[in-house]
Amino acid sequence: MCESCGCGTANEHHHHHEHSHDHKHSHTKTVTLEQKVLAQNDALAEQNRAWLAEKGVVAINLISAPGSGKTYLLEKTLEALDGKIKCAVITGDQQTDRDAQRLKGKGAKIHQIETISACHLDAHQIWHALAEVIDDETRLLFIENVGNMVCPTAFDLGESFKVALLSTPEGEDKPIKYPVLFATAKAIVLTKMDLAEPLGWNLSACRKYIQQVQPGANVIELSAKSGDGMDAWLNYLTQLVQ
Ligand code: MG
Repeated sequence: MCESCGCGTANEHHHHHEHSHDHKHSHTKTVTLEQKVLAQNDALAEQNRAWLAEKGVVAINLISAPGSGKTYLLEKTLEALDGKIKCAVITGDQQTDRDAQRLKGKGAKIHQIETISACHLDAHQIWHALAEVIDDETRLLFIENVGNMVCPTAFDLGESFKVALLSTPEGEDKPIKYPVLFATAKAIVLTKMDLAEPLGWNLSACRKYIQQVQPGANVIELSAKSGDGMDAWLNYLTQLVQ
């Protein structure tokens, strides 16, 4: 369980409770509450998934650490698609609408969610945002989750699938440190590849760690800044909606 938000990311890791400072709640009670929260979320996620399927929208849940370049990749993606695929974005941060401001004016409807206390988006928040950003022409919905590799992975939003981002400054070994995200992502985007050489970042080591958690993973290397690799990412998105 994640102690900062109580979001119940790993029910099997009960030993965390031994370090909890909250003695009011029994272990059993806490686990039951977690399961209830996740069950409610899963039901709403299925509602979102059915609604999106009926509209013919592919929804991508983008998950990564803060600062890996989710918003920047979305800025460059919306600019490159230039309305050829009708996109929408729901973006989440703990506070501010800075990402929504960055993404506006690029042909996509944008909705900002401020999670305030939570370290992840949930299906209920997505349900309330869907009608605002999706219209009959929308084919692709990007959900930019709160920067965090653990909690967002545990919450089904009703997306089509997850895409993980990993930027070169974070190092090569995040896939084995945060294996749930990297094992379940349908694509893994390695960002800031323009920094790989100056940082001495090791691509083959990173690919080896990804293989350990997800053999045969779809890995896309790019630099949204230089534009290298963007074609592979844009081709990937385009084939999703054909
Ligand atoms: Mg962002």
